[in-house]
Amino acid sequence: MTADLLIRAARAVTGSPGDAERPLAVGVTGTRIIAVEPLSSSRLSGRDVLELGPDVVLMPGLVDSHVHVCEPGNTEWEGFATATRAAAAGGITTLVDMPLDSVPTTVSAGALQVKRTAASGQCHVDVGFWGGVIPGNGPELAPLADAGVTGFKCFLADSGSPDFPPVSPAQMTEALGLAAGLDRPLLVHAESAEAAAAIQAAPGRSYAKYLATSPRGLENLAVAQVIEAARVTGGHAHIVHLSSSDALPMIASARREGVRITAETCPHYLTLSAEEIGDGETACKCSPPIREAGNRELLWSGLRDRVLELVVSDHSPCTPDMKEPGTGDFARAWGGIASLQLSLPLVWTQARSRGFGLGDIAAWMSAAPARLAGLTAKGRIAEGYDADFCVLAPDEPFAVDEGQLHHKHPATTPYAGRRLYGVVRASILRGQKIDLGQPHGQLLSRDAG
Ligand SMILES: [Zn+2]
Repeated sequence: MTADLLIRAARAVTGSPGDAERPLAVGVTGTRIIAVEPLSSSRLSGRDVLELGPDVVLMPGLVDSHVHVCEPGNTEWEGFATATRAAAAGGITTLVDMPLDSVPTTVSAGALQVKRTAASGQCHVDVGFWGGVIPGNGPELAPLADAGVTGFKCFLADSGSPDFPPVSPAQMTEALGLAAGLDRPLLVHAESAEAAAAIQAAPGRSYAKYLATSPRGLENLAVAQVIEAARVTGGHAHIVHLSSSDALPMIASARREGVRITAETCPHYLTLSAEEIGDGETACKCSPPIREAGNRELLWSGLRDRVLELVVSDHSPCTPDMKEPGTGDFARAWGGIASLQLSLPLVWTQARSRGFGLGDIAAWMSAAPARLAGLTAKGRIAEGYDADFCVLAPDEPFAVDEGQLHHKHPATTPYAGRRLYGVVRASILRGQKIDLGQPHGQLLSRDAG
């Protein structure tokens, strides 16, 4: 068989469960993978051949299901061109945009159309969209699903956006029932607004005081509410950016009982720790907060035990001023970390030191996020899937240089100067190497069925 493109990889991982590195031949015709064979016995040929040596690993392109793009409306924070350029440079070939940081927020089919129009023609990777759940927009969920959203997102605590108010636990349960009827997951920002309201504090520059304003209990209580909502509705609830490791046994227990609940964590919770964040270092502020090193190790155990299935960036950008660099005031600073481009090397650097392989990375960062978003052609190297790849030099070290970061405000990164492993040599989208001058990303809809 002659493919348009034959990739001969001395090392490859496919995103299949329990996958280890092995030599593979991958045939691509048009935009799709047409064959995957062991390299030694493959008789595939190609009009073009990409020969990959033992210094690089062929991986499925990463799928980041948790990205805040902010365009239209807050394009000075981040836009589709810059975010997708950062994604492509970081080996991510598909991202899914969150519904809350743009104007309008994505809480109706009309607002989704405004966002798709804004994104059109300027994306370097494929882009999908989550729809938003806010109080009173239940009637909008079916039209949003018909218009192709990958699922829905709600907050149980203040979102930071007045256009995206939180729902009560009862409203969350109702929305989860509606989402289940539409065969979509409901993603939940799980911190309890009621418990948070009782905590009075002015952290100022103190990270310890900031951490005390967002204790694990806020997450633990909300996660328990989400589990019970999933139990009674039968819907698929997904906990975004889990920070409190206390919640892992609850989630594991619910899953054993057949409750449809999944959870993700993020590079910052797996990399940083409260002990190393200095007072006034608001670049590290995010919500929920980065906790102690012991908590971080338990999150790694959660990945090992497969209670946590996804690692996604929660790329949450802002302007440098919004991080309050002058005052270092944690109460006033924007809560969010922009890490799209560094997500893979950050997680890989930590993972390799704990005995994980790139097969694990592909499962957490490609296959599982694609599954959550219902993007059935994404996230794996297998016959019939989109020909999306990341070519990674996993043993090559580098130091993070702000000048190399493509998101809109590189100065907001907390990772400048950090030494990491894993250099992305190429990102390939639907069979074509991504050229940062020529956007060829498409806007995606969730696949039916
Ligand atoms: Zn987020």
